[in-house]
Amino acid sequence: MLLPLLLATELAAQTPVVPPIRELAPGVQLQPGGFEGERGPDGNTIIFDAPDGLVVVDTGRHSWHSDAILAYARERGRPIAAIVNTHWHLDHSSGNGRLKAVYPNARVYTTSAVDRVIAPGGFLVRNMDSARQMLVGTEITPVQREEVQIFLDTMVDSQVLRPDVVIEHSQRMRLGGRRFDVHVTNGAVTDADVWLYDRRTRIAVIGDLVTFPAPFFETACPQRWREALDEVWSTPFQIAIAGHGEPMTRDQFNVWRTAYGVFVDCVSSEREPAICGSGWAQATAQFNGDEAGQRRAAGFAGYYVTMLRNNGGKSADCLTN
Ligand SMILES: [Zn+2]
Repeated sequence: MLLPLLLATELAAQTPVVPPIRELAPGVQLQPGGFEGERGPDGNTIIFDAPDGLVVVDTGRHSWHSDAILAYARERGRPIAAIVNTHWHLDHSSGNGRLKAVYPNARVYTTSAVDRVIAPGGFLVRNMDSARQMLVGTEITPVQREEVQIFLDTMVDSQVLRPDVVIEHSQRMRLGGRRFDVHVTNGAVTDADVWLYDRRTRIAVIGDLVTFPAPFFETACPQRWREALDEVWSTPFQIAIAGHGEPMTRDQFNVWRTAYGVFVDCVSSEREPAICGSGWAQATAQFNGDEAGQRRAAGFAGYYVTMLRNNGGKSADCLTN
């Protein structure tokens, strides 16, 4: 009897603490995503009050993140009416199933980009093979093993990543009875990302169109991404909430946007990857923290120069340009 109890205590101690939920504007809450040690990140979740219930934008990766969303809904005594996935990356969508298990009437809104990556040969399906190999190997730590297993468990029921309502193009539409300007990119971080502009609060929810310490180009179309950043900039937003990290002012967003353009031009040039990388780190210095943070940003960006150049200036999964 004693041993299982001890084990349970140990496991409980390992469950990461979720950052507290906080109000950004009346009727708009931010559940920040965590990013701890060897674990994969959880994306930020933004929750809007709507006439029919709550509109939840992105659902995180881990059960403790989706549990925090569910606890908030319970505390408010309001159902989750709609779920929006900004994109199919699993740190933003793995919680869909857990939310729908409690609120089966919640509709998932996103683009059909996810269909390609869960089909045979698609990005996520390809990753399953290497994930299974990692589990067979002995080099990974228990926490890394748990993370790999979370990925594989999500893929067992990958249908929960698919939209109930496909968003095909940018439009003004009601989600849970609340109006949003819903934007769809034509290839940016993924084939088709969703971002929202809320006129009432002048908040833009932009998913991974901004990431730190560098843009993550694994599934990206760099030129289309640049156009999407310009489109965000053309709205009169006051606060941009990216998929990770703190809310940004217009000035901060513009610093990142400008640095992005310079970086992508550098990728297209003949300059050394390390030059493009340190240029990126300098331009985004205000987000990178100390010297180690600067080096990390330069390292990430430099890595992507090589990756993108090896694929003709885009990711292998980019269908457009
Ligand atoms: Zn993300």
